[in-house]
Amino acid sequence: DYKPGGYHPAFRGETYNHGRYILVRKLGWGHFSTVWLARDTVTNAHVAMKVVRSDKVYTEAALDEIKLLRRVSTRNGSVEGFYDASKHILNLLDSFNHSGPNGKHVVMVFEVLGENLLALIKKYEHRGIPVMYVKQIAKQLLLGLDYMHRKCGVIHTDIKPENVLMEVGDVEAIVKMVELLDKQKRDQRKFQRRATKTSIDSPTVTANSSRSSTSASLERSTTRRLRRHTLITGSQPLPSPISSTNFFEMKAQMMGQSLPRPMPPSTKNNVNNVNVSGGEEEQITNSLSSLEISTFTDERTEDEVSRELDVIQIKIADLGNACWYDEHYTNSIQTREYRSPEVILGSEWGCSADIWSAACLIFELLTGDFLFEPDEGHSYTKDDDHIAQMIELLGDIPSRLLNTGRHARTFFNSKGQLRNISKLKYWPLKEVLREKYKFSDEDAHNISDFLLPMLSLDPQGRADAGGMVNHPWLDGTVGLEAVKLSDRKLYESGVDIPGWCQEVAGQPRH
Ligand code: ADP
Ligand code: MG
Repeated sequence: DYKPGGYHPAFRGETYNHGRYILVRKLGWGHFSTVWLARDTVTNAHVAMKVVRSDKVYTEAALDEIKLLRRVSTRNGSVEGFYDASKHILNLLDSFNHSGPNGKHVVMVFEVLGENLLALIKKYEHRGIPVMYVKQIAKQLLLGLDYMHRKCGVIHTDIKPENVLMEVGDVEAIVKMVELLDKQKRDQRKFQRRATKTSIDSPTVTANSSRSSTSASLERSTTRRLRRHTLITGSQPLPSPISSTNFFEMKAQMMGQSLPRPMPPSTKNNVNNVNVSGGEEEQITNSLSSLEISTFTDERTEDEVSRELDVIQIKIADLGNACWYDEHYTNSIQTREYRSPEVILGSEWGCSADIWSAACLIFELLTGDFLFEPDEGHSYTKDDDHIAQMIELLGDIPSRLLNTGRHARTFFNSKGQLRNISKLKYWPLKEVLREKYKFSDEDAHNISDFLLPMLSLDPQGRADAGGMVNHPWLDGTVGLEAVKLSDRKLYESGVDIPGWCQEVAGQPRH
């Protein structure tokens, strides 16, 4: 991928935009780009630089991305007396072209954020994130989407954990620490190289064994990543040449704290109760069996830890696949696990497709598992399995979708039955939450009451982001308790929003 038309082979100390930005280290990468930490010599602050692949298709997509980013920019978000939800979308600071050995690359400059939500999910070992954080993330995500859909006419089309980033707080202090650690690592490598050169006979046992264990753990972590990295284009994730130091952890370390440890499954429920009702520490300790104690290393209660931690601020990032309410660029949208039924069936789609993905994402934050994880079998495709899983969780596909979906006939026969999968096991969301994930009756009820309107199989009836901000499940969201959107009604679908479930026809007016 580092070839003409591909990624730009950036390096530390490289300068951009006539010397204005100096590259420091890698922050992340995606299918379209590599993202770097750089110092802005004009403001003397640090920025994130997204360097897009140089192929024509990527360049054109990047130019669209810049237009979309300008539309959702903070400048358009603040209206006095209203909640400024534009702050939940990554803000574009600058953009320019950069020529390198692989061609001309579009570069976008952003504020520096921390890790994406997939890293947070992994931090909790795929066992679910404490409910109080999920509520914060969910409310901000919905506020951001409502702003995008209603105020900007922009559809993201790729809402997933990797594309939602967390804020890190004092970026400059963290960068200082990261630079220090990077330097230590470089010095160490230099020292090791010298040591190997001088002792030709010694097989450097430590270096070898550490390399093999690192690659084993890397392999483990990439397996899941590989599976979930099923972008529509079917890309292969690129191994990072520089190991990335974890910004979020850095912050925690600096403040002498750590994220609350993952809870053993059977205590998760009690912890959730604590979040909702507050201060039932005894219940947690009592419910820990001796076996569970061995896996539960943090002795602090959820309450104690949460008091120490800042409120998690998130921002929606990566508008690389976004489009306009009145100009869709493609019908192949959304990453597999977050793909909506109307898109799979080839029916019309719109802003409401983002709501489906958001609900899948929120479920994943709560449980650590995908809501839908389709696989192919010898007699059925991934799409077959995906639709079957949707029916098992949410009921029959509405006839409107079967009649309008261009691909519906591929999956369903004339009687409206799935062609390739016959045995369906109906398992409603509330029961899944109770039985599989051990949420209490009350929590399972409230969570499914919150998620189901966003998982309406028919996009016409799907609840819109703004209305869902007003859901009682989000009432106690720390830091955002008072935020309500008086101009949207809870559970109401967004059919009044232009482009809600179909591309607005005619000359694009955006
Ligand atoms: P792509 O379009 O190639 O998927 P993204 O915009 O999603 O590019 O960026 C790829 C990754 O880079 C993200 O998942 C994230 O980990 C990291 N990243 C992107 N923007 C920032 C930023 N502003 N601050 C810190 N990390 C970022
Ligand atoms: Mg991305």
